Amino acid sequence: MLSIRSLSKTYGNGVRALRDVSLEIPTGMFGLLGPNGAGKSTLMRTIATLQDPDSGSVMLDGLDVLADKQAAREQLGYLPQEFGVYPKETALAMLEHFAVLKGLVNDKERHAVVEALLRQVNLWEVRHHRLGGFSGGMRQRFGIAQALIGDPKLIIVDEPTAGLDPEERNRFLNLLAEIGEKVVVILSTHIVEDVTDLCPRMAIISRGEVLLQGEPLETIRSL
Ligand code: ADP
Ligand code: ADP
Repeated sequence: MLSIRSLSKTYGNGVRALRDVSLEIPTGMFGLLGPNGAGKSTLMRTIATLQDPDSGSVMLDGLDVLADKQAAREQLGYLPQEFGVYPKETALAMLEHFAVLKGLVNDKERHAVVEALLRQVNLWEVRHHRLGGFSGGMRQRFGIAQALIGDPKLIIVDEPTAGLDPEERNRFLNLLAEIGEKVVVILSTHIVEDVTDLCPRMAIISRGEVLLQGEPLETIRSL
């Protein structure tokens, strides 16, 4: 369970990106829906400990995320909106590299984790292919494999479906739903169907404020 309490953030230019944002997010896929500029990335980066709010708190199963960032980072996986990889690197080599960075230094253990993850996201067959040749959907699935290293309790995925064709998008969202059976998955998106199709719970954010949260159909009907 992730509890977000009264997060506020005003950037140096005076933009109030988050205004007293509070959310209760259980295990499962949670959709954060809002137009461009609503504050989704600011919220995702704050939960991922990459940026500090002006005030407020984030609790993950009793862990104060903003107070103990190092511990929090070990329990969360993040797929940013602009996920950079080396195009000339193979999927296998790149994921091994990310796994080393996450502290999996034992070779045998790491190889096993990397293989299991590449199989889970259905990229094992193409593990020796260069990432630069991957389709958008393959790249996003690789991003999820990277986010899953270390068995995190929380996965944060920022605007992942932009640029995917319908088939890639469905496959990607189904993968997230599968992952959401065990952990908290926060999916930020400006596409209504991304949340109505697969998220049991959602919130709508606009101009830095949470307008509504609940089950998708009820929430959207009450708009
Ligand atoms: P979203 O992800 O929903 O598009 P963002 O969190 O990226 O929203 O942005 C929310 C608001 O904060 C926007 O008005 C954006 O222009 C502004 N903003 C985002 N990042 C910065 C920054 N580093 N400095 C100043 N303003 C920013
Ligand atoms: P997506 O539509 O999800 O981006 P693709 O349609 O490109 O994925 O590929 C479908 C599946 O086929 C992928 O999951 C991948 O495992 C496999 N695949 C794609 N390209 C190749 C290839 N060149 N060689 C072997 N398998 C491939």
